[in-house]
Amino acid sequence: MKVNIIGGGVSGMTAGIYLQMNGFETHIFEKHAIPGGLCTSWIKGEYIFDSCAHWVLGSDTGSSFYKIWNEILDMKNIRFHKPRCTCRSGIEENVNKYGENTFYLYTNLDRLEAYMIDLAPEDTRAIKAFMKPIRVMQKFDLPPILDDVPFIPSLIRGIKMMRYLEFLYWFLKIRNYTNLTYAKNLKTFFFGKVSNYSMMVMKST
Ligand SMILES: Cc1cc2nc3c(=O)[nH]c(=O)nc-3n(C[C@H](O)[C@H](O)[C@H](O)COP(=O)(O)OP(=O)(O)OC[C@H]3O[C@@H](n4cnc5c(N)ncnc54)[C@H](O)[C@@H]3O)c2cc1C
Repeated sequence: MKVNIIGGGVSGMTAGIYLQMNGFETHIFEKHAIPGGLCTSWIKGEYIFDSCAHWVLGSDTGSSFYKIWNEILDMKNIRFHKPRCTCRSGIEENVNKYGENTFYLYTNLDRLEAYMIDLAPEDTRAIKAFMKPIRVMQKFDLPPILDDVPFIPSLIRGIKMMRYLEFLYWFLKIRNYTNLTYAKNLKTFFFGKVSNYSMMVMKST
């Protein structure tokens, strides 16, 4: 049996792979000259413009999504770039105690916390309160949706999910929080500006 797929983006190509794995013949119709859809990049001069996938859920080998990716990609041969900072922000008309107007959002939470406390010891309490839910959420791993999970493994997985109650608690607590709400709790003027995205000029690293 043949299946025609319209669109050669990630969805269309993934559908094609799974259909072929299950014995179907497939034909992908793509209106653009190249496949990839939104997930694409292009070269101009000496630069590569990578328009998407700056963040991929499941790049860590231990993650549940890694197993799913592995069904369609050879994950061990994909090199992921793990940046030191997710972004650096230039804050207009303001500097920190070192005279810099750039804020670095480090990916390593311990480093980020130490950096922020160094810049604003008077905000230590607010900074630690900010880090706590992030640390809880970091432990959260979306379980893959697999067919025919046997009863015992499924029960064990259900029991393990009890630890996500902490996540639920934090989610309910901070769900109405915005960067502006957070900025209001900060004594350091520099951080108030950082947290207020409307005053920031974002530069990707
Ligand atoms: C700037 C940016 C950053 C992103 N960052 C991330 C990220 O960090 N992590 C992440 O997981 N996701 C990210 N995404 C989202 C991710 O790229 C998209 O969700 C994903 O690529 C969508 O794939 P898709 O196949 O569903 O749709 P699309 O990529 O839109 O593919 C649809 C395809 O169908 C084709 N098409 C449409 N109509 C027709 C037609 N009539 N006939 C034939 N072909 C047709 C189009 O040309 C296109 O190629 C980002 C997206 C953008 C734009």
